[in-house]
Amino acid sequence: MAIIQQEVSAEPYIEIPDPVRQVYYQWRPSPLFRARRLEKALDTPARIYYKYEGTSPAGSHKPNTAVPQAFYNKEEGIKKISTETGAGQWRSSLAMAGSFFGIEIEIFMVKVSYQQKPYRRNLMEAFGATVHASPTRLTDAGQSILARDPESSGSLGIAISEAVEVAAKSGGKVKYALGSVLNHVLLHQTIIGEEALLQLAHADDYPDVVIGCTGGGSNFAGLAFPFIGEARRKGLKTRFLAAEPMACPSLTRGVYAYDFGDTVGMTPLMKMHSLGHDFIPPDIHSGGLRYHGMSPLISLLHDEGIIEAQAYYQTSAFEAAIQFTRTEGIIPAPESSHAIRAAINEALEAKETGQERVILFNLSGHGHFDMAAYESYFAGKLRDYEYPADAIADAQKRMPKVTM
Ligand SMILES: *Cc1c(COP(=O)(O)O)cnc(C)c1O
Repeated sequence: MAIIQQEVSAEPYIEIPDPVRQVYYQWRPSPLFRARRLEKALDTPARIYYKYEGTSPAGSHKPNTAVPQAFYNKEEGIKKISTETGAGQWRSSLAMAGSFFGIEIEIFMVKVSYQQKPYRRNLMEAFGATVHASPTRLTDAGQSILARDPESSGSLGIAISEAVEVAAKSGGKVKYALGSVLNHVLLHQTIIGEEALLQLAHADDYPDVVIGCTGGGSNFAGLAFPFIGEARRKGLKTRFLAAEPMACPSLTRGVYAYDFGDTVGMTPLMKMHSLGHDFIPPDIHSGGLRYHGMSPLISLLHDEGIIEAQAYYQTSAFEAAIQFTRTEGIIPAPESSHAIRAAINEALEAKETGQERVILFNLSGHGHFDMAAYESYFAGKLRDYEYPADAIADAQKRMPKVTM
């Protein structure tokens, strides 16, 4: 109930409970770095800063919401949470938070990730969670997908359908938790931007452009929303740039309309940028960020022109990731590489125009569990893929018709 209240709250600030802060202290505040060696390699007059969320025990920003979600469920006497995961970041974060607060965690992991990312799965198991390769035969949703396509490699939308079904059929005993997209998740992530505001004030600097990669939108919103608040209060001209993959371009190419959050159509409708709830990203895409929709809050801000969006090919994202690793020493999650690509492009543009531009981006996680994707990249096996326009038009036809 506390989470539902946050979902619909219009309060500008909500206090972080003490037990949540106690857990956060292990890695928060997360570091804000200036990428001096990258700046030098690019020979740019731009100043590049990045907020590094890979210092959490799970290696990404996801514990910022997993910990409060586990805490609020524990407070209300819940013993078990079901959830889904794509790359495995969300699930390992929730598995960790569940073990801190004594909550059982059952996870539906997108089959292609389950197969490609065994170490991430092993990490979840080490935290004590149960992990299934989705689609499974345990739920009606999984069975209906497998009946149509026995070889289905799964998608985040299908995994959500399965996890929601487990909770819906439990008679209230099992609760479902989501790691992105929803308002309360974005709220929990704003600790990233709140810290960055204070850290940049220490450095006596302020960004001209704030960048994050977008899957469901939570790490981007977490960094950008506090700066959007500042811009609106102070009349600043700060730009906000969402970086997404060409293979799953919900903000740049999706339709802004009411759609389901899951594949089967069990969730309430949300007004968001969507590629269609039955969108399944191609297997050849290794860069994560595979969700068909986008957070309704980000979708609205994009529709109002407050947020810009750019889509990038996966090979250009990996190329940026390697340049970053060689200068800054951190191997980024493939998702985060899209933000790095955007930041490098901004820095190169500043060089061309001779502009002193201040760039801030979110390095949402490290890539230590994603080395298989890097292996494919080094072997020259990654191909660029652009989601076809007729497939988008087609998916749009299957979206629910809503009249107001
Ligand atoms: C989950 C994840 C993302 C994408 O999710 P958002 O909600 O858009 O932030 C990006 N980067 C990393 C490292 C992730 O684990």
